[in-house]
Amino acid sequence: MNSSFSIGIPSGRNSSACGYCSPPGERSQGESSYQVAGFDAVQLTCQTYQGMIDRGWRRSGTWCYKPDLRASCCPQYTIRLDALQFKPSKSQRKVLNRWNRYVLEGEPDDAAASSQKSRSGKSSTEFVLPIAVHASEISNLSDESPTHRFEVTLEPSTFTEEKFTLYKKYQSTIHNDHKNSSAGFKRFLVESPLKDEPIPYPQTPPPYLPRQYGSYHQLYRIDGKLMAMAVLDILPTCVSSVYFMYDIDWEDHSLGKLSAMREVSLAREIHEAGVDNMLYLYMGFYIHSCPKMKYKGDYSPSFLADPETYEWFPLESCRPSLDTFRYACFSHPSHSSDEVITDEPDYLQVPLSSDDEKEIRMLVASGKRNFVVSLSESPYWQYDEIQRECLPCIHGLGIDLSKGVIFKI
Ligand SMILES: [Zn+2]
Repeated sequence: MNSSFSIGIPSGRNSSACGYCSPPGERSQGESSYQVAGFDAVQLTCQTYQGMIDRGWRRSGTWCYKPDLRASCCPQYTIRLDALQFKPSKSQRKVLNRWNRYVLEGEPDDAAASSQKSRSGKSSTEFVLPIAVHASEISNLSDESPTHRFEVTLEPSTFTEEKFTLYKKYQSTIHNDHKNSSAGFKRFLVESPLKDEPIPYPQTPPPYLPRQYGSYHQLYRIDGKLMAMAVLDILPTCVSSVYFMYDIDWEDHSLGKLSAMREVSLAREIHEAGVDNMLYLYMGFYIHSCPKMKYKGDYSPSFLADPETYEWFPLESCRPSLDTFRYACFSHPSHSSDEVITDEPDYLQVPLSSDDEKEIRMLVASGKRNFVVSLSESPYWQYDEIQRECLPCIHGLGIDLSKGVIFKI
């Protein structure tokens, strides 16, 4: 199969339990679930997946899903941070400076030490994000010998026992989840449908930058021990943060903030190496109703995708509507609502146009061979059941992206 196509096995509209309400159903009178359109991706081009996340999709392993925000107790808005305009707040800078001091000088974390440092003038120098992010990395220190050896590496997403051990500890200590198998870890954080494609640098980039779009693990090691790992997708216009886990022993160092700053800096460094389209960090879903997930709004300037038109709105301009309504629509404020609408969407009743049926394709098996045919040529397309599997995905992808995906039945 040609790798420039995307292939997905559609599974229609699914109900998914909500993990964000606390206590469950608080904002939704007991409706602690949401509806998603989903498909299992056999393979995806990075361009198609970029288009998908711009329309509210995410992936978990190879499972791709798009929540229906009108039918969700805790609407999940796609959020992106402008990597070129990002200005860390004072507290974000402090986290980074404190970490660098810890690595370089092993300094105890007390206020006296940090105020002494500012008197010495070191923290009054101009803060440049990529410089601060790399300041204490061993690869960056030629003649200094730091107190701790801090190393960050970026590698294609693969399974190792070391990563799995970190995952098990993270899940059990942070999420109180003790039933973790290596198969589950692989399914969730190692497997990816993304096809690697070369990043079009105008000249050879610095060695620490990735050469390919695709799925990566970023590993943080201190004195040789794996302390944290980020799962990242590097896509045509963004670095997309899939997951981040850390060893609870390092909890006091705000590793979540350190990793967000490292990831936004990565997007900026790829841009500065001549890849003009690389502009954003996608931090996943912003959930205004969930206090634990609001931290993503602390990075500025951030933008939310409108749930109906997918235009980007500055987060600050969205807040009044998010504070007022459960479902906030920024492009059509009159559509905002507190009601959870779980009725079957209209699109399941409206047939595709015959042009669209000719251009959207399906993979069908005949004997031992597979054929790619248009929906209108497919013998399966007449079945209601097949349409109910495909239509929510086609609607969620939009017609243009759907033309780039072959639906496997
Ligand atoms: Zn919820």
